[in-house]
Amino acid sequence: NLTASLTFPEGHSLKSLDFPVGLFINNEYSPASGGETIEVRAPAFDKVIAHVPRGTAEDVDRAVEAAQKAYDTVWGERCPGHKRGKLLMQLADLFEQHVEQLASIEALDNGKAYNIAKAFDVSEAAACLRYYGGWADKEHGKVIEVDNSKMAITKHEPIGVIGQIIPWNFPLLMFAWKLGPALACGNCIVIKVAETTPLSAFYATQLIAKVFPPGVVNVVTGYGNEVGAAISGHMKILKVAFTGSTLVGRTIMQAAAKSNLKPVTLELGGKSPNIIFDDADMEQAVSWSAFGLFFNAGQCCCAGSRIFVQESIYDEFLEKLTAKVKSMKVGQPFAADSFVGPATSKLQFDRITAHIQSGKDEGAKVHVGGNRHGDEGYFIEPTIFTDVTPNMRIAQEEIFGPVLVVQKFKDESDVVAKANDTMYGLAAAIFSRDISRAMRIANSVHAGTVWLNCYNQLNSQVPFGGFKQSGIGRELGSYALHNYTAVKAIHINLSQPNP
Ligand code: NAD
Repeated sequence: NLTASLTFPEGHSLKSLDFPVGLFINNEYSPASGGETIEVRAPAFDKVIAHVPRGTAEDVDRAVEAAQKAYDTVWGERCPGHKRGKLLMQLADLFEQHVEQLASIEALDNGKAYNIAKAFDVSEAAACLRYYGGWADKEHGKVIEVDNSKMAITKHEPIGVIGQIIPWNFPLLMFAWKLGPALACGNCIVIKVAETTPLSAFYATQLIAKVFPPGVVNVVTGYGNEVGAAISGHMKILKVAFTGSTLVGRTIMQAAAKSNLKPVTLELGGKSPNIIFDDADMEQAVSWSAFGLFFNAGQCCCAGSRIFVQESIYDEFLEKLTAKVKSMKVGQPFAADSFVGPATSKLQFDRITAHIQSGKDEGAKVHVGGNRHGDEGYFIEPTIFTDVTPNMRIAQEEIFGPVLVVQKFKDESDVVAKANDTMYGLAAAIFSRDISRAMRIANSVHAGTVWLNCYNQLNSQVPFGGFKQSGIGRELGSYALHNYTAVKAIHINLSQPNP
């Protein structure tokens, strides 16, 4: 049965929704070659809501063939940039027209609040597609002056068939971040969505089929060590882009190296420092800091999971942060005022609770929370740890859940050393009214994104990516286009005879 039939809780504007969930290859749906499926659960209710194909390496081969054929016949340089751009913008419009359906699916499948999925995930996904639609006819090369007898030009050509692998924390948004730049540059795609949250991408394939020729976008669901491994090690996939854990990022890079040396972009984990100086606007710093970690139940790669507060304001900040965190509504995704949702899977719930236990075992103090919330679904209480030392697991490892670690610092050099004491380098934030101080710290922290007096601000126009073990390459902005183009230099002899 290649259909998902979702029903939504009473009181929600949408009652039910049916849509296809087969492997999406050549704009058609099919079961997995092995005939097996994977259960998809709603984490807020711990209920099975659908079954999707458990794709195989053979299915990936079929998707690559379809993508190659589309690339050789209708896409790539055969479809001019302005036309590719128009199609991307049409898809953006369709995402917006289907916002209610997409956000409802996201809320059920991922567990995030419907209102947030609508206002953030779906609308940012549409904005991203539209932004890259605008780039599709503007990414060109140069004329390079050499000498009078010669000229050279560069062309920014598409690469060909691209493999992409995405996680479950922002299922539709990550899908759009991957599709936008790759399609704008003229590539064809084989993408694996996360096995835990595949449904919004499947709904979106119906919209893709209305806009793009068959084979341009192919979606294969399945497990990482099956479909993901087949993509990263494929001989005919000429580039792979991955978002997920640092651990799997290493595997992707190894598979790329061992197969055809395909270039790799990696968007990995983080343990991002959020630094609060004594001259910060206290109310704003508290509010942004709570948002910086508890947004999406802490399941953000750039989450501000290590807060460093200057000694003189530590007590006041902690008291206000505690009040703010206690006021956040933990609740099921279709309740209007929910802010903190559940962990997206049982696996993730178990990982987070194990981290909380390790904090307790290593002697940190649970200041707020620290337990499961309720008895239905995978909810965890928003948790704050204090009395933390830098060597504790909760201070070093990415938890990817609603767990915050608050530490003190003395001065600028102390906080820079503490902030950089991690293998990660994805993001950082600084709260201060002194712009010179904030800029000194911004220059000193090892992070791909630095927010001054705000947190978790992402825009399609601004590049995003990590230093150190947080990744390789940049997504978003014009920078992402470099991931998806091959630069060709052409030398033109104007008058020089061979001596
Ligand atoms: P993961 O890295 O295991 O999964 C991400 C994607 O990679 C999924 O689609 C998965 O199926 C696939 N995958 C897994 N093993 C693979 C393999 N061997 N080859 C190819 N693909 C493979 O992440 P997870 O276990 O679902 O989440 C755990 C951690 O990942 C989190 O705690 C967090 O650190 C990190 N994470 C980061 C981001 C981010 O945005 N950077 C997003 C989600 C998760």
